[in-house]
Amino acid sequence: MKHYSIAIDGPAASGKSTAGKGVSKVLNFTYLDTGSMYRCFTLHMLNKNMDCSSLSDAEEALKDFNMDLKGEKIFLDGTDVSERIREMDVSSNVSEACKHKAVREKMVKIQQEFAKDHDVVMDGRDISTVVLPDATLKIYQVASVKARATRRYEEMRNKGIEVSYEDIVKDIENRDRIDSTRENSPLTRSEDAILLDTSEMTIDDVINMIVSLFKMKAGENE
Ligand code: C5P
Repeated sequence: MKHYSIAIDGPAASGKSTAGKGVSKVLNFTYLDTGSMYRCFTLHMLNKNMDCSSLSDAEEALKDFNMDLKGEKIFLDGTDVSERIREMDVSSNVSEACKHKAVREKMVKIQQEFAKDHDVVMDGRDISTVVLPDATLKIYQVASVKARATRRYEEMRNKGIEVSYEDIVKDIENRDRIDSTRENSPLTRSEDAILLDTSEMTIDDVINMIVSLFKMKAGENE
């Protein structure tokens, strides 16, 4: 049976996961937040006091990496780390931990297997270019640094995570730089991805827009 897929890529904190979750609810698709997988691996490396920028440490860490995805929850060695992986120590190391080829290959394989069995909305950095090059719809979602930092700041404060606005801006800029200049599957807009600037859009507008674009694309492919 043929499955549909929607790929949403874009820079850090551009609202991809909020949009992805909303779209998956409207269309009754399964949502996969691929960033959470790289964050989970980063936490695993940090727990082992490893250097996330070291290839040999990353390869070693892959050997006993035990991650489980259940709905929107993510587990590391059986512990629910869905909230823990949003904290600043993970954020500031994830772009280093995920740049290694062996790490990316492992995650991409899991993501591609997942898409074989489900209608999916997947968000990340390399979904359109590497994970799902044949996705039904590809979106490249952007927003100004100010809009992104403000949204992320409010989201973290609402979750009770203590963080400063300045640290969020630094984290976003730093991750964008590393993610778009790394050697293995850097963040780039695929030629056939639709550019969506959400700086001035509400979340409902973004969801409605993606759902309409999907229906159009799916109709064209019938
Ligand atoms: O999506 P989120 O911002 O939570 O992702 C955290 C980090 O994981 C990104 O900054 C990026 O370094 C990495 N990532 C990636 N490829 C993906 C998803 C996330 O490299 N498909």
